[in-house]
Amino acid sequence: MGKLDGRRALVTGASHGIGRAVALRLAKEGAAVALNYRSSAAEAEEAATAIDANGGTAVVLGGDVADPAQAAALVDGAINMLGGIDVLVNNAGITRDSLIMRMSDDDWDAVLSTNLNGAFYCCRAAARHMVRQRWGRIINMSSVVGVAGNAGQANYTAAKAGLVGLTKTLAKELASRGVTANAIAPGFIETRMVEALSDELREGVLGRIALGRFGTPEDVAGVVAFLASEDASYVTGEVIGVDGGLAI
Ligand code: NAP
Repeated sequence: MGKLDGRRALVTGASHGIGRAVALRLAKEGAAVALNYRSSAAEAEEAATAIDANGGTAVVLGGDVADPAQAAALVDGAINMLGGIDVLVNNAGITRDSLIMRMSDDDWDAVLSTNLNGAFYCCRAAARHMVRQRWGRIINMSSVVGVAGNAGQANYTAAKAGLVGLTKTLAKELASRGVTANAIAPGFIETRMVEALSDELREGVLGRIALGRFGTPEDVAGVVAFLASEDASYVTGEVIGVDGGLAI
């Protein structure tokens, strides 16, 4: 018996990194999972195959969450293919870093569109179903820098801070219908997003992490599985740090 037996979950941005690990973990706990990707179809299919091979249920859905019509179609697709939606993990995210004086409108818009607008579109579509069935779990992937700020990431930090406000409002609006909403604030997690950092920057960051190591996608996935389960039924509107003590 898994703690998510019978649940149906949609994970955005599940072709790589944290989203992939989340999809695998939710499936391991018994959920049927829809894996979304934008451009990495082969990787998403490979993750779904790994879930199938372990006896789980997985479907793959392409779609750009930054596009309102595609985001709505994505939620509808998950509902049609899985028979409903109980858990939504808004994980899809990008970076387009530069100092604010050099940041282009395009870089600002691209990051806000994917990281914040995309989550809003998916939440709006999924909430309509969750409210009707009187049960749901929304988990938004924020970041430690959404709370602390970070030089060179005005667009990213604004989007991640926006997700915190969105999450708390969802929690207040949906609580009476059995739907919880929480955010996770990962620190530095070993994915291609942090592989791009210079060795010097990595060393500097490592020195500030109390647990003395970067996080793994699985470290984040375990917390998502907890928030998606009955164990977290009295937890809503929270921002849970998964950062090895970086923000202490
Ligand atoms: P990643 O390895 O770069 O993966 C990002 C995922 O998002 C990919 O599956 C990508 O799909 C998908 N994606 C990007 N734009 C999309 C769009 N418009 N529509 C649908 N999917 C889209 O990143 P990651 O490190 O795992 O990060 C996952 C989430 O955690 C992000 O929200 C990120 O901001 C957050 N986070 C990461 C860290 C970290 O240290 N890694 C720290 C804090 C927060 P395609 O490849 O198919 O385009």
